[in-house]
Amino acid sequence: MKVIIIGAGFAGLDLAQKLNNREGIEVLLIDKVTYHQFQPLFYQVATSALEPSSISFPIRKVFQRSRNIRIRITRVQAIRRAQNIVETDTGSYPYDVLVIATGADTNYFGNEKLASLALPMKSTLEAVKLKNRIINNFEDALEVADPMERKKYLTIVIAGAGPTGVELAGAISEMRKNMLPKDYPELDFRMMDIYLLDGLEKPLFNMSPQSSGDASQYLNELGIIQKMKTIVKDYDGENVMLADGGVIKSKTLIWAAGVKGNVPAGIEPELVIKGRIRVDRFNKVIGTPNIYAIGDIATMETPLYPKGHPQLASVAKSQGKFLGRNLIRYTMGEPMEEYEFENKGSMATIARGRGVVDMEKPFKMHLNGVLAWMTWMLLHASLLHGGKNRVIVFVNWLYKLFSFDQTLRLAERYYSLLSDKTIEEIKSEDCREAEENSKAQM
Ligand SMILES: Cc1cc2nc3c(=O)[nH]c(=O)nc-3n(C[C@H](O)[C@H](O)[C@H](O)COP(=O)(O)OP(=O)(O)OC[C@H]3O[C@@H](n4cnc5c(N)ncnc54)[C@H](O)[C@@H]3O)c2cc1C
Repeated sequence: MKVIIIGAGFAGLDLAQKLNNREGIEVLLIDKVTYHQFQPLFYQVATSALEPSSISFPIRKVFQRSRNIRIRITRVQAIRRAQNIVETDTGSYPYDVLVIATGADTNYFGNEKLASLALPMKSTLEAVKLKNRIINNFEDALEVADPMERKKYLTIVIAGAGPTGVELAGAISEMRKNMLPKDYPELDFRMMDIYLLDGLEKPLFNMSPQSSGDASQYLNELGIIQKMKTIVKDYDGENVMLADGGVIKSKTLIWAAGVKGNVPAGIEPELVIKGRIRVDRFNKVIGTPNIYAIGDIATMETPLYPKGHPQLASVAKSQGKFLGRNLIRYTMGEPMEEYEFENKGSMATIARGRGVVDMEKPFKMHLNGVLAWMTWMLLHASLLHGGKNRVIVFVNWLYKLFSFDQTLRLAERYYSLLSDKTIEEIKSEDCREAEENSKAQM
């Protein structure tokens, strides 16, 4: 059986590991990047607390000793269902069984101007770009004489108060308190505002009321301005325009306010609901004989989750493993089993010594403060791929704990890390593109 897996994220990688060295199964694992990305720690890369390499793991290294797994680093362009073929940038590959595990990307809800000017954090490279922008804004601020103009460089606005927004806001507030005043003694950091905006009533809305309440209190203690029930309408690179008519002046808008699935071409729109591909209880795409979808890209209705499972690493990993077991059953002529997610709990960290945990299994319990923060650290370090990465991350955290410093603030000032163009060339291209898009929308 020739199985193609698109995506070596949490779901695809766990599935491939389950099928590793299984007789009768040949696997082709395709990803557009060479490494598995540990998304929960992106915010620490963006705030100079961790190196990108310590939260990324080379996909080929995982399968060095595999007899049945081949890897291609290329981008999937389309699925030709009628021919059972996957088309990529570098060639076409036939399959008997196809598994789509392409995850999700940032959702700007159709606003092209936001898409080109706000900063996302959905990949390691985007986290690095965000770090670059944050550091360069402080460098630029040094040369701005007018205090009101300078404030725009210092102020950071984060849209979306889910775990990503909350964790990022907390980490930036720690930089403002401990590191930035020492690095930039010429700047007055009382002028630096950190805004956290969300259309819902409170931060971490999907967690328990205690966790939401604790998080809100911690954010207040850290001096983060929370504006809940607030929707961002537009952004021009300097003014964050709100639906209630308000405007926040800032050169940095970080967008953590929504995701949409990376649905490959060839999957009909009627199979997609809210940006996710509809699957049955076996993760099989509705109406197809041999295509499966797992992780963030999939939505499955179950008695426990009638609106689909949450887009979490724990769901993605368990669906990857479960589908692996089901495919093995299938090759042995045994019936597949129905999937359901066993929720063991959720957690978020806000800053040093401040975290929240909603434990569901083995018993229901709410933790906060230092205990929750330590639980979060231990769990996230243990989930990382690779012993070396775990050690490096842990050592970095220990260093930060005792030194109150974030040492990894390497940033490119004149050249982009991602292309040969200078930052100025990229900025002017972005502005031109945003102008053209907004003209086209009018
Ligand atoms: C900043 C952030 C923080 C998070 N924090 C947490 C947390 O604390 N706890 C938690 O449980 N969850 C967290 N999540 C969510 C969690 O990371 C996702 O639920 C999880 O990554 C989903 O796994 P996946 O395998 O479905 O997709 P992903 O992990 O996104 O993997 C998708 C893979 O597909 C590849 N791909 C996509 N399109 C193509 C293509 N066309 N061709 C080839 N390859 C392609 C990508 O390169 C990627 O490797 C966080 C997410 C983010 C962004």
